[in-house]
Amino acid sequence: MKLQDKVCIVTGAASGIGNAIAHRYASEGGKVAIADLNIEAAQKAADEIEARFGTDAKAIVMDVTSEEQVNAGVQSVVDAWGTIDVLVSNAGIQIVNSVEQFAFSDWKKMLAIHLDGAFLTSKACLPHMYAQGSGSVIFMGSVHSKEASPLKSAYVTAKHGLLGLARVIAKEGGKKGVRSNVICPGFVRTPLVDKQIPEQAKELGISEEEVVKKIMLGQTVDGEFTTAEDIAEVALFFAAFQTNALTGQSLVASHGWYME
Ligand code: NAD
Repeated sequence: MKLQDKVCIVTGAASGIGNAIAHRYASEGGKVAIADLNIEAAQKAADEIEARFGTDAKAIVMDVTSEEQVNAGVQSVVDAWGTIDVLVSNAGIQIVNSVEQFAFSDWKKMLAIHLDGAFLTSKACLPHMYAQGSGSVIFMGSVHSKEASPLKSAYVTAKHGLLGLARVIAKEGGKKGVRSNVICPGFVRTPLVDKQIPEQAKELGISEEEVVKKIMLGQTVDGEFTTAEDIAEVALFFAAFQTNALTGQSLVASHGWYME
């Protein structure tokens, strides 16, 4: 068991990639806190995990853009399980539009969820990791941490920004045994992506099938979606890695869409 009794918080784990990560961590003995805006779905996910793996799982209501809710949620996990070993800052949304039509309010909402969320959850978890001299912080980046696409100005900006924050935490946390890394998935068929397909088809004036084949998967080596389970495997690798040899890094899992 690679994460036996490790206390893990995964934000946005009521759905999609975060949910798959929570299941994978529990399968390796981790205690998992499902932190999400959607408390009903988070509770359902926690119940499913407890039933499937017999490990502790709990749901926490958390809007990652609220300092108060983040701090209260992290504290509730520490009160229940004593510490924090792994943070996966994963919660995210997508809003697509061209720069000149992008509402400033949408821009701010995107940066708040992706960047403020990563900052606030890290800030709340790091003192507990420093106190015990170990911990792993994982940000959910994207191929869009490295690459740009039209219509995704706020998303690309925020996902690039996470690389910087992870590197700073890696440098600040190194001597305290805390590592920080970024996972960069290609397209994964989750509700976040399903919502984009008709939106992009409309914006770009092409069919939904073309969005999937050309825009999303056109540059992969095999025309395949990456799966949430693929990303959960990378998240397990980062969480369970034992030394500071692997910190301040980003790993792209995208069926070869982006190669570096
Ligand atoms: P999803 O829509 O399936 O799940 C996102 C979850 O985040 C939902 O449960 C939602 O309730 C929660 N959430 C949204 N706003 C929140 C907030 N303010 N506070 C707390 N929770 C909030 O999406 P997904 O595809 O699983 O995406 C998860 C992460 O992976 C995101 O950061 C996304 O940018 C990233 N990502 C996704 C893909 C993809 O193709 N799906 C690719 C690269 C990166």
